[in-house]
Amino acid sequence: MELYDDFDIKYTSHAYIFLGDKEDITKRAIFLAKRVNCKNEESPCGYCESCRKIQNKTFPDLYEIVPQGASIKIDQVRELIMSFTKKPIEAKKKVYIIHEAQKMTIQAQNAILKSLEEPETQSITILLADNLKQLLKTVVSRCQVFDFSMSKSDGSAIVIETRQMIADILSDLISKKDFFDISGALKQISSIEERPELILEFISSLFRDGLAVKTGSKISIENADFEDIINKIAKTYSIKSMILILDIILKQIKFAKSKGNSSLIWFNTLIELREVI
Ligand SMILES: [Zn+2]
Repeated sequence: MELYDDFDIKYTSHAYIFLGDKEDITKRAIFLAKRVNCKNEESPCGYCESCRKIQNKTFPDLYEIVPQGASIKIDQVRELIMSFTKKPIEAKKKVYIIHEAQKMTIQAQNAILKSLEEPETQSITILLADNLKQLLKTVVSRCQVFDFSMSKSDGSAIVIETRQMIADILSDLISKKDFFDISGALKQISSIEERPELILEFISSLFRDGLAVKTGSKISIENADFEDIINKIAKTYSIKSMILILDIILKQIKFAKSKGNSSLIWFNTLIELREVI
């Protein structure tokens, strides 16, 4: 499961407006796209076919619009509306993301209004904007609005030094691959003063990256600055092992998020990893 601070947000609509920092709300929109289309129960897992395709921007049912020049024009919106009526190709739900939606011309907004009025159950539309002022009231009233401008950003809250520390311990462990080393490595990792779910999430993101390298979809790599460890993971483990490891970590992230006892988290991780590593 990919971690987001406000993972428990209830998304109940087919049309959303996300307000806030461009990069942050884009991440949130992609996160939601994965969440509704993930093939795993703990969605979004971040590594199933759908999640990876969405991250890679190769998912056929993800449509994105960005401003052409200074505005989003009616022709761009019309194209999008045409595809509204089509069935999803492989998605549970088609996802439309309109970047910088505040730049839609009035005509473009009026055009999209109709689609928002007739909820197409097989799709969700996410308007990303920095403010509501330029959006028509009629558009706003048809969307569930989330203002993320005041919130902290995502789960990448671990400082770079700590991430480096985790990567080093992991790298060391992968070179040795011995049960006693796992136990020693986990002891080291658990002594890091950081929330266990954030540590686990970082480790899982490294394995997801390893998987991306192994399957040749390098475009989706999250931790490009940790290339060495990612390549090492990709070289050492089979795709099957990586998925098993990700499953183990995922389970423990869930446990950690439910305020599980942290020594138990590391103990369980150890016991289960022993079978795979
Ligand atoms: Zn998934």
